[in-house]
Amino acid sequence: MPQTIEPLIKLAETDRDLQKFVFAKSHLERQIDKARSVVDQHQKTIQQKKDEFELLIAECKNVKNNLQIQEELISRLDSQVPKIRNEKEFATSKNQLEEARKILGLLEDNMLDLDLKKEDLEKEIGTINNQLSESNTEFEQETSGLLKKQAKAEKKIGTLEPRRKRLLKKVPQKIKRFFERCQESGISTPICAIEDKSCSGCNMVLLPQLVNELMTNTDSHKNCPNCSRILYFPEVEEEEDSAA
Ligand SMILES: [Zn+2]
Repeated sequence: MPQTIEPLIKLAETDRDLQKFVFAKSHLERQIDKARSVVDQHQKTIQQKKDEFELLIAECKNVKNNLQIQEELISRLDSQVPKIRNEKEFATSKNQLEEARKILGLLEDNMLDLDLKKEDLEKEIGTINNQLSESNTEFEQETSGLLKKQAKAEKKIGTLEPRRKRLLKKVPQKIKRFFERCQESGISTPICAIEDKSCSGCNMVLLPQLVNELMTNTDSHKNCPNCSRILYFPEVEEEEDSAA
């Protein structure tokens, strides 16, 4: 490879590889997040149900207390019956007992309802727990491959980033600035090869004169007249490619 253009080509290649792995990594992250969201949803639902269950238990305790109070009241009223001395006292006691028994009945109904609700909720929590562990297993199976790929991409990025920095130091200051300016304004590949007589950055077909110039002088470079990317003529590596 010619001396002058070599760092430029290496930089372009490193940069392209780096972008590929950065993209792959973020794509993998999204896939992993998506897989995790199913588990997260189950966990959230389970927490909600558990909170509901706690509330029910508190309500049960409250009703139980009231039941006890009511039962005590009734037994006290009952114990007073033999002491009744006249019609008026009898009528009062009868009313009080009726009222107390009515409330007791309501509380017992309430307790029954709550017990049923508790039972249903327990079943529901059991089901969601099963779903949670299923989705956890699925998540682990699904993501073990993804996590390996992600670690690999991270390792690649770890070696490509410093290489990119090293190569950027080797190219002339003017090109380095151009390169950085392009990337800041969103052109991710400021240096690219001529492919099929076109700029591989913007796909514009180049004038034969420009292509010929770079083809005969492979250690030089020119800017694309359309997108102003730096163009170079790539070395033919077909034999190497087919051997690989
Ligand atoms: Zn172009």
